[in-house]
Amino acid sequence: MPLTPMRVLLDHAAENGYGVAAFNVNNMEQIQAIMAAAEKLDAPVIIQASRGARSYSQDAYLRHLMLAAVELHPRIPVAMHQDHGNSPETCLSAIAHGYTSCMMDGSLMADGKTPATYEYNVEVTRRVVVEAHKRGVTVEGELGCLGGIEDGHGAGLTGAEALAHLTDPAQAERFVADTGVDALAVAIGTSHGAYKFKQKPTGEVLKMDIIAEIHRRLPRTHLVMHGSSSVPKELIDIINEYGGKMPETYGVPVEEIQEGIRHGVRKINVDTDNRLAMTGAIRKVFATNPGEFDPRAYLTPARAAMQQVCEARMIAFGQAGQASKVPVRSLEEMARTYARG
Ligand SMILES: [Zn+2]
Repeated sequence: MPLTPMRVLLDHAAENGYGVAAFNVNNMEQIQAIMAAAEKLDAPVIIQASRGARSYSQDAYLRHLMLAAVELHPRIPVAMHQDHGNSPETCLSAIAHGYTSCMMDGSLMADGKTPATYEYNVEVTRRVVVEAHKRGVTVEGELGCLGGIEDGHGAGLTGAEALAHLTDPAQAERFVADTGVDALAVAIGTSHGAYKFKQKPTGEVLKMDIIAEIHRRLPRTHLVMHGSSSVPKELIDIINEYGGKMPETYGVPVEEIQEGIRHGVRKINVDTDNRLAMTGAIRKVFATNPGEFDPRAYLTPARAAMQQVCEARMIAFGQAGQASKVPVRSLEEMARTYARG
């Protein structure tokens, strides 16, 4: 089947009470790792690229790698998503390259750093929704600002400043009505990158009650958790055992994500955990076999390590076993559905 509109995956996840991991990619091995996990577990998947990933891998390479993925795995529904589009132009260029979903992150200005006003956010997001829906493409918006910085994107907020930018449930209700987005990224205290928390997060920092309240107000909007890598200690330990220097750090526990899934979270962004897994595997080859110089000798275990993380998340989020049950719907069919309102 061709690339699937993300909305189809999220609707099925909502109807059946599970979540779908959205894995970030820049290269062939990462796409292969995700697809091998999806095939093994019969899991639908979202593969996403940030602006940084698009410029690193170049749109044409990435697009053809994605087409290879669906050609080799015809039974797996795969959505291709633009992560953190900084402007309507970025989203439209992703759509032109065959993405079936895009995020218009109007919570920040086009520089990807400065927090924007509500009015600006509505204006740019609404514009993307109109153009995307004409083509059957899904749109994710963001309200509130996440902590941290990812691929140069993010306000880098911490502490009290980050708390002041958590998503306001009443405003979220208005935002969805004003823009018509399919999915909404919410800021509940998570942050991008490996250094999320200095200790295991509690209810003080991770506001799961905000998700529950937004879901109560917006039962039909698919919620998205960003910065939701779990940063497992085992992966940090492998890196440090083989010459790495990563300080102690904590991510979002998988149980907290599962709690989110019970309250309307349908898309969970995972990037850091895969980076850690690949880096640990590569370091291990370099440390234990310093004479090795064939890239396949370290990319093969790196790919296998990432596949393991993908499989673990697919099982934990409940998407395993669902691929064959997801209805097949094309972008054209979605466009007609949106046109009917
Ligand atoms: Zn993000």
